[in-house]
Amino acid sequence: MSASQTSSQPSPHPTVPGGEDDPTLLVKIFGKDRPGITAGLFDTLAAYGVDVVDIEQVVTRGRITLCALVTQPAGDGSEGSLRATVHSWAESVKLQAEIISGRGDNRPRGVGRSHVTVLGHPLTAESTAAIAATIARGGGNIDRIFRLAKYPVTAVEFEVSGTETAALRTALAPEAAALGVDVAVVASGLQRRAQRLVVMDVDSTLIQDEVIELFAAHAGCEEQVAEVTAAAMRGELDFEQSLHARVRLLEGLDESVVEKVRGEVRLTPGARTLVRTLKRLGYQVGVVSGGFTQVTDDLGERLGLDFAAANTLEVVDGKLTGRVTGEVVDRAGKARLLRRFAAEAGVPLAQTVAIGDGANDLDMLNAAGLGVAFNAKPLVRQAAHTAVNVPFLDTVLYLLGVTREEVEAADVQE
Ligand SMILES: [Mg+2]
Repeated sequence: MSASQTSSQPSPHPTVPGGEDDPTLLVKIFGKDRPGITAGLFDTLAAYGVDVVDIEQVVTRGRITLCALVTQPAGDGSEGSLRATVHSWAESVKLQAEIISGRGDNRPRGVGRSHVTVLGHPLTAESTAAIAATIARGGGNIDRIFRLAKYPVTAVEFEVSGTETAALRTALAPEAAALGVDVAVVASGLQRRAQRLVVMDVDSTLIQDEVIELFAAHAGCEEQVAEVTAAAMRGELDFEQSLHARVRLLEGLDESVVEKVRGEVRLTPGARTLVRTLKRLGYQVGVVSGGFTQVTDDLGERLGLDFAAANTLEVVDGKLTGRVTGEVVDRAGKARLLRRFAAEAGVPLAQTVAIGDGANDLDMLNAAGLGVAFNAKPLVRQAAHTAVNVPFLDTVLYLLGVTREEVEAADVQE
């Protein structure tokens, strides 16, 4: 289509107020917040027949900052009159007002949009400065900042434009590690809101324990098992070999121990809140574990999980045989199960979130749309998309853009 043909077509959209060259007024109100301020300002502006181009309002420690961008009022002297009227209204309600003339709206945001979530415990001014400076060095512009949570960590989200998500992630990862804060960078867009399946590791992720060590305590071989587990998690041992070696140590243990171990398992703080909130948001939630179905099936029932997969300890004549049955859930198996759950849930892999702490979670973390290393070993932390290093599992919600207030509001409604 030629340019002349294009221009002869009627525009499908109505004229946008505050076009590039149209004169606009930026009205900023600041002061003690109370109900009725926004109504009062726009009631005052309405007398001048102006249109709204943009509004942003935020309340911080009881102080309101309200910015309204409106079209310039028509008619000679009407701008002066509007200014005088707004200032006198503001004075009457003990607020400060500032009115700045200009043209148009914000410039279009740069290509490349990301959400950068920062979790601090506490979040220091120094960390905030370093993160903002890193974003700026990469050519990114911070368009918006807002707080997601003040408990159990301080979580803030930066909306950044003008830089590639992957490049931003790479630039911020070493900064976050050096500062001791958790930073997650995810691409903006509809996909972020469409994440609909979360798959978690169990040992040292959903629960605080390593289940095989709980069994080992009953078999009196804790030390031997702990040594093998640690080496496997550091990636020094083949997971399947180490699994068989550890399970062999449990040979002859009475089946009644299973019930005891179930009772000993301690959920990670925030685990219930995470699962409950995800379920309310319509997510499907599953676990994949290099541990045992004897424990994960019970957890799945208690928490209302949609999917659970693990190894099964073989029991013959009421005793553990020291073997596992069925398909072994190892590093590759975890990634395979993530794909299987996603297919069963009808969720594209790009819209899945995986959470884990060990080397055997790495394939799963990398296969997911967002892989979260949870209080993980350094090897895992460095290889994952993002890391959470505070011991609260519900902080993962903040990485998904869910605010603490939303979590608490949903709890009150129940
Ligand atoms: Mg684990």
